[in-house]
Amino acid sequence: MAPKIQLVCCLCGKKAPQTKDVLPLDAEWRRRHPRMTGTIACECAYSGRWYWRCDNNRANGYDPEHIRKVPGGCIDSASHVEGAHPLTAAVLRFPESALRQGAHEYIRHTAQGRWASPELAQRLQKALAEWEGAGAPQARQVTKAHR
Ligand SMILES: [Zn+2]
Ligand SMILES: [Zn+2]
Repeated sequence: MAPKIQLVCCLCGKKAPQTKDVLPLDAEWRRRHPRMTGTIACECAYSGRWYWRCDNNRANGYDPEHIRKVPGGCIDSASHVEGAHPLTAAVLRFPESALRQGAHEYIRHTAQGRWASPELAQRLQKALAEWEGAGAPQARQVTKAHR
């Protein structure tokens, strides 16, 4: 049986619930919140705590340093959320982030598992090798578990 996914939200540091969707964030989030560990957030990404607005009044429609990502333009931080993903899907799509956020047991298990396609297994093994090569940095401490 696969180990449970341990994943700490990149913004608030709380443990992501197993049964709720998570919200992968794009590079603009990382620029605005440079202390983020990884890019997979819990639903707190939609809260006022982390909110920012893309400045559409500037000549080019964005802040000068804005990292363009959103097709058709963007309004605020919510525009830069990749959309809700089930936890497993987010971890397998963004293993580099997930490793830094605490999901290494699950990723290691899946990378060796029989059900993973050769392509997926290879991608996970590559991410694991890079993470271990960097000294396997742990996610920051869990501040408080979700209810
Ligand atoms: Zn959070
Ligand atoms: Zn924007």
